[in-house]
Amino acid sequence: MENNLTTHSDVEEKIQKYKFNTSYFENPEQLKKDIIEKKVIPHQVEFQPGPLGKKICWLSCPYCYGESAINNAERPSTERLVELLNQIADGGVKKVTFAGWATDPLNSKSIDDLLETALKRKMIFGFNTKPIKVSDRFIDILKHNKIDPQSWISLSIDSGSNEIFNKVHGMKTKAPLYDKVLNNVKRIKDVNMPNRKFDVSAAYLLNKFNSSKKEIEKFIFDFKNAGCNLLRFSFAQPPRGLVDKEQIETVPLVDEKNKIMNEIKDWINSFDSDNCKVLIIDPDSENDIFYKNRTLPCVARFVYPTVGFDGRLYQCSQSAAPNFKDTEIGDLKTKNFWDLYYDYDVSDFIGFFKKSGELIKKSGCRCDRKEHIVNTKISKSGLFE
Ligand code: SF4
Repeated sequence: MENNLTTHSDVEEKIQKYKFNTSYFENPEQLKKDIIEKKVIPHQVEFQPGPLGKKICWLSCPYCYGESAINNAERPSTERLVELLNQIADGGVKKVTFAGWATDPLNSKSIDDLLETALKRKMIFGFNTKPIKVSDRFIDILKHNKIDPQSWISLSIDSGSNEIFNKVHGMKTKAPLYDKVLNNVKRIKDVNMPNRKFDVSAAYLLNKFNSSKKEIEKFIFDFKNAGCNLLRFSFAQPPRGLVDKEQIETVPLVDEKNKIMNEIKDWINSFDSDNCKVLIIDPDSENDIFYKNRTLPCVARFVYPTVGFDGRLYQCSQSAAPNFKDTEIGDLKTKNFWDLYYDYDVSDFIGFFKKSGELIKKSGCRCDRKEHIVNTKISKSGLFE
């Protein structure tokens, strides 16, 4: 049997991760001490590489948190991105994630070099992607390198057919994008199985277009067979910049979420098995963060700073675009990572977080779930404000 979920604690850890309960720092006291002494090292650094051009993603998801991004023409070269990743590894960062703000990491010409560098440096990697395009070299790199087993690829699928895939991702085309994605996931499976080297999970954001049992069952069948060891059903968060406009049909409000949950929760849970966990969660209701903009004080820049598509260092994954010029940490095209990362003055510790909180508020950012949850732990400690 293909099974990487061998022990109870393995299973529990993975479930907690996908319920956003990972611990990103030891405790608030230690984090505060490390920040003051400039010994803090980020839990992870995120890279959001993107292609040049006006439209930088291959899809047009109406719920995308990057839909409101200002796109400029600044892009770092692949050589510079690789250099930066090496600097980050030299400084002791163990994990790099690849995602996108208004784009997809696999839509970048730099991604193969970045993956290869991460593996050479023995880093844990994570990907958030809708893998419409996966190069042969990408597959080859996964095949021929040793991979830290904590590494993962998280797929965002949200459908079980071409028609619904295109509908929920805002695509007017009839192109068989679901088939394309599924085929790419099977290519990844070929290098990942039978002795699994890394986790592959698939997410399904439920809404009124895709919550029929037929659609869901097809997705579960396809992606279990394509080598996923976790399938996660939840709901989209309202995206930044669009929340005050008319309701987005793919972001269900509380009543609709509850209705979908009541109708299919037990049925979805019945697909759960040892070799592929199947979860359905509503983290916004559980943590009371639906429609909440952000949680302050914010420690993101110390815990998971992000390299934006324009080659600048930003506070977090959700504020990594030129719209957030006022809260950016600096330009990595001309300065080195650690010079920027440690460029802060916390001689007035509380004053520092108060001031940065004011700038952050003005920027109009919107936390994702992990950011709300991490900042809530900080806020509850009372040590940063
Ligand atoms: S989105 Fe959240 S984590 Fe990011 S800068 Fe704003 S408050 Fe901080």
